[in-house]
Amino acid sequence: MVRLRWPQGVRCARCGRARVVKLARPWRWQCKQCNKHGYRFSPLVGTVFENTTYPLTIWFKVIYLLCQSKKGIRALQGQRRMGSGSSRTAGSMCHRIRAALQPTARPPLRGIVEVDET
Ligand SMILES: [Zn+2]
Repeated sequence: MVRLRWPQGVRCARCGRARVVKLARPWRWQCKQCNKHGYRFSPLVGTVFENTTYPLTIWFKVIYLLCQSKKGIRALQGQRRMGSGSSRTAGSMCHRIRAALQPTARPPLRGIVEVDET
C-alpha cells in the first residue's frame, strides 16, 4: 500500500510535503508542518479502508469477490465469505467499495490494455 500510494517516498496525506517522520507504531508517519502538534497519518487515510477495524486481507478478499462475480455479491454473501462480522458490516464494506469503483473523470486507458473475461 505504501509503495503504491507513494512510489517516490512517503508524503503527508494532508499537505503532500515529503518532510515526514516515521513513528514507532507500524505504518504511521507524522507531518509537523500541518499543525503544531503534528498530523499523524497512515497509508489508509483518505481511502475506503480508513477508520475500519477489519484487516486489509479481509478487504482485499471482499474486493476480489465483488470484482470477480459478474453480478456482484450481496452483503449477506459477502458476510458469509468473509467468515466473520455482521451483515451490516459486510454491506458497509460493499457500499464503500462500489462507491470507490464508480467512474471518475480520469482519462480512458491508453496503449495495450489486457483484461480477462470478468
Ligand atoms: Zn502535512
